[in-house]
Amino acid sequence: MNRVYNFSAGPSMLPESALKKAADEMLCCGNSGMSVMEMSHRSKDYEAIINEAESLLRELMNIPENYKVLFLQGGASSQFAMVPLNLIGRTGKADFVITGQWAKKAYQEASRYGEAVKIASSEDAVFNYIPKLDKSTFSKDASYFHITTNNTIYGTRYTTLPDTGDVPLVADMSSNILSEVYDVSKFGLIYAGAQKNMGPAGLTVAIIREDLIGNPLDITPTMFNYETHAKNGSMFNTPPTYSIYIMKLVLEWLKGIGGIPAIQKVNEEKAKILYDFLDSSSLFKGTVVKEDRSIMNVPFVTGDDELNAEFIKTASSKGFVNLKGHRSVGGMRASIYNAMPTEGVIALVELMKDFEASHK
Ligand SMILES: *Cc1c(COP(=O)(O)O)cnc(C)c1O
Repeated sequence: MNRVYNFSAGPSMLPESALKKAADEMLCCGNSGMSVMEMSHRSKDYEAIINEAESLLRELMNIPENYKVLFLQGGASSQFAMVPLNLIGRTGKADFVITGQWAKKAYQEASRYGEAVKIASSEDAVFNYIPKLDKSTFSKDASYFHITTNNTIYGTRYTTLPDTGDVPLVADMSSNILSEVYDVSKFGLIYAGAQKNMGPAGLTVAIIREDLIGNPLDITPTMFNYETHAKNGSMFNTPPTYSIYIMKLVLEWLKGIGGIPAIQKVNEEKAKILYDFLDSSSLFKGTVVKEDRSIMNVPFVTGDDELNAEFIKTASSKGFVNLKGHRSVGGMRASIYNAMPTEGVIALVELMKDFEASHK
């Protein structure tokens, strides 16, 4: 069977070169005589893999020296608790911008450990925009300020970061890490589940400024303390060894095609192809305010549930899968992460044009 164009929001497509390399090395990786899955996480062979994964990530994202890169588990959802447990103790308070369900979950979880302040929300319009932020409304005494840089379900993204002054900016970057250039030094902490744009599920990456480590709430479990993982090189316990290895292969691919500036250009082109079509279509419409459109997740509708369902079914039969939108938005959503080739987006637009022509 041929590989399909997989528009899943996550887990999602991986670069074919990474999958092929993993296949080649499945039984025997390098001179180890075994699969990466069978290696001790403390072996020399595995040490080389995890070190290379970290150094590639540092190089690609230009991560400053005073930041730790941590390989964790429990998904971005565990970070919703881990962030306040480690950071909120300084003042007992943190600010949140509610731009979707993930942002809301981060806010709700933080409110269990301190005062979580809702600075702004776009829930009034099904999160189809990023609220304009007024700096004078930010808490001066917040321990941190939390945003979701890309809203996977609704298809919005920040195009400018809030100016939080001395308050550390914390970002859930699960669905757009590695997709566009960010200045890491603008953040106190970045976290992301790997399964959207970095690799397989099971790995969560945290990039944290060193001065934010070491002040957890007393109740913080050892495994939820960033210091535990920072002091032990992400080897306090067994890390998700195979997921880290696949991420390394994905990062090698990304470096090979020119790194984040190069993929950003491709991502912007892919998004433009799709949005230009949506803007000209008489059948399909984007659901999001234009200036806040995500270049990773593109929700769209026909305005008719039956037509949506028919389109999803037709697309699926032709090898364009996982286009069904999230139940809270309805319609369709095309997730076009780094590994989705431009041809996949062009082919999708052709399919949509054909569908439109036959449903006039
Ligand atoms: C997918 C996603 C999550 C949840 O990630 P898990 O790894 O499943 O916990 C959180 N935030 C954002 C922005 C996401 O896209």
